[in-house]
Amino acid sequence: MTKILAISDVHGEENENLYTYLNNNDIDLVLILGDITDFGPLDFVGPFIEKVADCGVDVIAIPGNCDPKGICNAINDVSFCLHNNIIAYGDAILFGYGGSNETPFNTPGEIQDNKIYGDVYELLANYDYVYNEEVPKVKILVTHAPPYNTEADKVENGEHVGSAGILKSIHEFEPQINLCGHIHEARSLSKIGITTDVANPGMLKDNGAVLVDIKDGANYEISLVSLDE
Ligand SMILES: [Zn+2]
Ligand SMILES: [Zn+2]
Repeated sequence: MTKILAISDVHGEENENLYTYLNNNDIDLVLILGDITDFGPLDFVGPFIEKVADCGVDVIAIPGNCDPKGICNAINDVSFCLHNNIIAYGDAILFGYGGSNETPFNTPGEIQDNKIYGDVYELLANYDYVYNEEVPKVKILVTHAPPYNTEADKVENGEHVGSAGILKSIHEFEPQINLCGHIHEARSLSKIGITTDVANPGMLKDNGAVLVDIKDGANYEISLVSLDE
């Protein structure tokens, strides 16, 4: 049994409702899906992550496109940066990739979509090194950018702006879950095909979160949570 709460797009603004929620619910791990800062400062990162961890949870994070250079070091100073990395955690295997495909705003953490595709493909292909068939685990792809052409990447005018590279990798490896952020107004839980649940919690300041409740290593429930309820 593993309970994971995903939050995203903090942009330097804490939300007291998060601490209340964590103190009232039995959560093992908080995943932060990037844009922890609003183009810095980096000294927000350590104290924020430590405050979350003080609620009795583990914390793992990835950078977003709005986080400045040095963000992975700032995360690693106090917890674990999952960018371009794989870790087995409880009943889950987490594959992490931060930053985003290119935007019109020329933000610091942008990566060309074909590079995202190559990197995420390799990451997911490394599954064989961490997989053990006697210990079934739920595969969770943890990205800042959402996959292209889903509920999670739709901006206000209806246009889809997500990463085609992430979508392609999901089609090829079919992880059970993709947790993503980046598009603040696209808070959603939807599906790619019949295999992959895609969840974007929206911004932390809007009380958005996603709960992944893994029952026995293979079966799980996923839901959108409002931290103010
Ligand atoms: Zn953001
Ligand atoms: Zn972003």
